[in-house]
Amino acid sequence: MSQITEQIHSSEICDILEDALQGKTHDVNDCVRLLESDDVHLMGLVGGSLVRKKYGKRASFVNNIILNYTNVCITDCKFCAFYRPPGHKESYTLTLDEVEARVKTAWEMFRIRQVLFQGGHNPDLNIEYYEDVFRMIRTKFPEVGIHALSASEIDTIAKVEKSSTNEVLSRLKEAGLQSLPGAGAEILVDSVKNIISPKKIPSSHWLRIVEEALNLGIPASATMMYGHVETVSDIAEHLHKIAKLQEKTGGIMAFIPWSFEPNNTQMLAEHVVEHGAGGFQLLRMIAISRIMFDNIIPHLQSSWLTNGVGMAQLAIQYGADDFGGTLIGEEVVSCTGARSTELTGQKIIDAINQIGYQAVERDNFYNTVKVH
Ligand code: SF4
Repeated sequence: MSQITEQIHSSEICDILEDALQGKTHDVNDCVRLLESDDVHLMGLVGGSLVRKKYGKRASFVNNIILNYTNVCITDCKFCAFYRPPGHKESYTLTLDEVEARVKTAWEMFRIRQVLFQGGHNPDLNIEYYEDVFRMIRTKFPEVGIHALSASEIDTIAKVEKSSTNEVLSRLKEAGLQSLPGAGAEILVDSVKNIISPKKIPSSHWLRIVEEALNLGIPASATMMYGHVETVSDIAEHLHKIAKLQEKTGGIMAFIPWSFEPNNTQMLAEHVVEHGAGGFQLLRMIAISRIMFDNIIPHLQSSWLTNGVGMAQLAIQYGADDFGGTLIGEEVVSCTGARSTELTGQKIIDAINQIGYQAVERDNFYNTVKVH
């Protein structure tokens, strides 16, 4: 620790890093200063020190598949290469039997512990579709957890049903929904959302729906998609809003910062964004997230899906403690052509072992399933 203290002494963010090492919490201004600083490696030293203090040289992962159950969507986000409008010849929606077949294969081949179930905003699917899927999975594959639906998908179902989001969440919990992935947050600042996803729910609705879920006893992750039109203060505001929600509810299990993948998106075509954010920015986001959230949100994911396994190994050194999921069958990021989007549990274990860490397989709720 004294070696780290010496190195950070001459930095312009010295006070924030020292406070972090002493376990103090940070405000929005601290976050902006971290985001504006180029001392990313020092932040990483501190982020890595904090995470090892909590978990030692261990990193967890979940054996899971992602079921992108439909690509039909009416929300037309400019950052999305995945969706197709209703009636498009490339549109699809998985039937109950198709979902069952995929879960069965994944269970038999990989002994998965989680299905991550996400898709477009499909106005033709009513709540019974989701209830049937969740009941089927929990009945036929009781060891497989259901981590499903963004806040905006919940909002879409509520609109289809002419019901409240709270009622939808309550019914889906009853049917077997166990946790929310926290997707659809992007950046929780409406001036950003108005540019990248003008038809999506505003920030206040995302926060309200996740709060409703947490109050119903459905734990959630929180996400951030960075690397597009957001400013430093937008990111700081996003992290601040997540921190406030967690202070109120305490149910956020993990934070996941994703980098925007521009390939095949409208934003790239319109030259709103010219390239992805890259690995250095990932490390900055990981270190800052650990420093900002260390006292309040237990887990931080490495985001291998958009940045690759090598960067995820570095992210573990900079403050992440969870590799994320195997995500076999992922479609959304695959549509941008971003790197490899399939990774078996063994490959994740190897990647964790390569950096001298012990791999811990976890379940949907971050409970240990097996230490490898
Ligand atoms: S990100 Fe989701 S809501 Fe937006 S267009 Fe793609 S599928 Fe639809």
